Amino acid sequence: MDSPQKPRICISVCEPTVAALQRAITAAAHVCDLIEVRLDCLDPAELKAGTGLITKFLQSVSGEFILTFRPSREGGQRELDDEKRQSFWSDAIFSNSLFDVELDLAEKFNSSETSTALPIDWRRTICSHHDFRGVPSKLDQIYDHMAATPARILKIALMANDAIDCLPVFKLLERAREEGREMIAIAMGTAGIATRILGPSRGGYLTYASLETESATAPGQIAAQELREVYRFETIDRQTTIFGLMGFPILHSVSPDMHNAALAAAGTNAVYIPFEVQDASAFLKRMIHPRTRELVWPMRGLSVTAPHKFAVMDGLDWIDSAARQIGAVNTIVVQHDALHGYNTDAAGFIYPLLAVCGDLRGARCAVIGAGGSASAALYSLREAGAAAAIFSRNVREAEKLGQRFGVASLALEDACFEGFDVVVNATPAGTLGRFVNETPATAFQLRGARLAYDLVYNPTETRFLREAREAGGETLGGLAMLVTQAKEQFKLWTGEASQEKVMYEAAARRLSVR
Ligand code: NDP
Repeated sequence: MDSPQKPRICISVCEPTVAALQRAITAAAHVCDLIEVRLDCLDPAELKAGTGLITKFLQSVSGEFILTFRPSREGGQRELDDEKRQSFWSDAIFSNSLFDVELDLAEKFNSSETSTALPIDWRRTICSHHDFRGVPSKLDQIYDHMAATPARILKIALMANDAIDCLPVFKLLERAREEGREMIAIAMGTAGIATRILGPSRGGYLTYASLETESATAPGQIAAQELREVYRFETIDRQTTIFGLMGFPILHSVSPDMHNAALAAAGTNAVYIPFEVQDASAFLKRMIHPRTRELVWPMRGLSVTAPHKFAVMDGLDWIDSAARQIGAVNTIVVQHDALHGYNTDAAGFIYPLLAVCGDLRGARCAVIGAGGSASAALYSLREAGAAAAIFSRNVREAEKLGQRFGVASLALEDACFEGFDVVVNATPAGTLGRFVNETPATAFQLRGARLAYDLVYNPTETRFLREAREAGGETLGGLAMLVTQAKEQFKLWTGEASQEKVMYEAAARRLSVR
């Protein structure tokens, strides 16, 4: 049975006063299909005095509601003993609502030994279970218990600590679909984002979203507007091709903005999803590789970011020569039943530089840093015929990289870049956050260098670039590389190469709002 309805977005509102709750409901009603009213968030006095007011108010607002009165052990805002919970539902007189009742209470109401019958309609009841620690070991048994109650809809929300934890959630949705049950299954946390975006397309009754990014009521919730505008949530179905990003952390990434904008502009039924992955090998094996994955889904490719660019290489069937020489893969293509690895950082690095400098043959280039992006830069500079040298605070790593590419490695401390045509910052120094005020080289060190190229793109204006301008040099920021490497990935996945402008605008938009 395919989900017959259009995918639904439910916004959860959690406020301490009736007045604030009414304001939040009014705001949410414009941007979602259902509103979950978290009555456990109300101050006890407000709840006691305000029940009648809320009932009237809900009847005056068009739309469907889910009423929730959650104890803290299931993610609620306060301690609620069974008596309080039971009497809450006994007094509830809300009419245009679904009722979310936790499994333990639903079982009590359903028990033949209990005299208290559920005072609300089972046909409007969601039987729920929440686990904020991880994936419960007896997930299928929990499902069985829920399915044994007369509740119409089953709901399981668990905490994902790794994107691999989305797998049991997708399996539950599959089971419910096969058994003709209505089900909400969510993996909470950043690692569970895929279930929030894809759940309804795989049979889920709804997905939860927040009104604003800051007002999320559960970890990992995405704002409703972002679900619609970035992920085109309402267009996702079982045929939608899936691309994604694997990394840890991933929330800072601009890639979902760039790739989803490009997929939309190309008119493709496809979506790009962030996967917060800790165990790269298990993720590739159980969720991605067509020969071993435990999920039937149209997964076609991945971007790979830190810290997995090296680790993923072991799980691939074929790696392109440039990626092998660089020693890192940042793009995976699902090619029939195999995984192919590429590195588009090299192309991403060199094309913007060539656009500024023209011919690089014989150019003197200094690469600061000895990590993955330095390796990609050295590879492309060698291909372009430039003469490069590495400068690093980690001399041993620099020597290793220097030997691999046959270039000199020097200590960064007290380095002087006079006479260099290009000085590349391939370190995180200057990145938004705790490194933002750092620079790998000062104006004094950069005097006499022609162009400073910062691979850091967030912020777009870094201290390294300011120091270079103070020294009288030209500058190039990392945004052009970011967009170019993404464009090359898009080309590998879709064969299309024309979405650069759309990607640039999406990246710039996201970076300017952060
Ligand atoms: P890695 O972690 O692989 O390497 C970082 C290198 O920088 C290491 O050699 C590290 O040395 C050195 N380093 C770290 N901090 C400093 C510092 N304060 N001063 C001097 N050296 C330092 O990272 P990547 O190579 O993958 O990425 C580096 C930067 O490039 C990141 O900011 C990343 O965002 C950016 N990047 C941008 C891309 C784009 O498209 N614009 C694409 C890829 C990367 P040590 O071992 O001593 O820590």
